[in-house]
Amino acid sequence: MGGKRSRLSLISMFSVLFGAMLFGATACAQSLSDRTVQSTLPTWHTDTQPIMGTRVHVEILHKDQEYAAATIAAVMAEMHRIDHAFSPYKETSEISRVNRNAGAGWVEISNEMAELLRKSAQISQLTGGAFDITYASIGRYYDYREEKTPDEASIQAAIHAIDYRHVELEQNRVRFKHPSVYIDLGGIAKGYAVDRGIQILSERGIAQGSVAAGGDSRILGDRGGQPWTVGVQHPREPDKMAVLLPLIDTAVSTSGDYERYFERDGVRYHHILDPSTGRSADGAWSVTILGDEAMFTDGLSTSVFVLGPEKGMALINRMPGVDAIIIDPAGQMTYSDDLSGL
Ligand code: ADP
Ligand code: MG
Repeated sequence: MGGKRSRLSLISMFSVLFGAMLFGATACAQSLSDRTVQSTLPTWHTDTQPIMGTRVHVEILHKDQEYAAATIAAVMAEMHRIDHAFSPYKETSEISRVNRNAGAGWVEISNEMAELLRKSAQISQLTGGAFDITYASIGRYYDYREEKTPDEASIQAAIHAIDYRHVELEQNRVRFKHPSVYIDLGGIAKGYAVDRGIQILSERGIAQGSVAAGGDSRILGDRGGQPWTVGVQHPREPDKMAVLLPLIDTAVSTSGDYERYFERDGVRYHHILDPSTGRSADGAWSVTILGDEAMFTDGLSTSVFVLGPEKGMALINRMPGVDAIIIDPAGQMTYSDDLSGL
């Protein structure tokens, strides 16, 4: 587990609490539209765009303005492409085609879709089904903006469709073994998109940068000789950070019950569902996972949220190279073993 210490650098995460600049809000970042400064010294270039129902933020260090702009545009284009393929809200997406047809028989799918389904199944196995893309068999009937929830009868009618083992995958085709199965890759798609973004940066020779899509981000290299500072939002005070993490070459994902939710009769209905009940999981306020790949940290943050602090932390402590910060429903923050020692 030696990689963990170097990733977090030797600075205690508390020593940077004050005076540190927040990730994504760095004063020295140069806007892409600012073409007045031409320099041969590398400078920071950033852009933020609304994609995948969230804010996508890219930040890179490079000496050439044009090259930097083209690189950031390539990352944004990839995010749009992934959104078009994997959004269940778009009728023309590949996932919508699968959802329409896989209940009736085999559906041919792309290599990329097959890889995402395979990865999802792995995370489901690893988490004993806490992560389950078939959660959407019931999840599809929630609308957090419209404050809509399925009634008890609809939940009972669809609960048997929730089981990742209903998704049968063969090389490049998939079918559902239960007619009411509906899948949604929202638990890993943003992380996957972030990984693809970082891959594009690396292929284009960028050594220092970051890509974030909402609560999923990944950092490439350091930030001018210093670790990047990634803030974990306070789950009940929107303008406050619960903790700041100094990080190098790390993926970070946070899942919280405050992103998409509404309250009714004292119950908080939010977008992370416990697959065993078809209802919002209530074991945590937020879960942050640190690891190497954003697709994995994304899936794990959703999973640990469902598992709750005890089972979730036990799972993370068994996994080399992965760390967690959990804020429980009493507001208590706990760290995985390798973070507690810092
Ligand atoms: P965000 O989408 O805000 O980044 P998460 O990473 O926690 O938050 O992912 C939540 C999303 O994951 C939900 O919007 C939904 O698409 C999907 N999801 C919800 N519950 C589950 C679950 N038990 N297993 C897999 N995916 C889930
Ligand atoms: Mg997640």
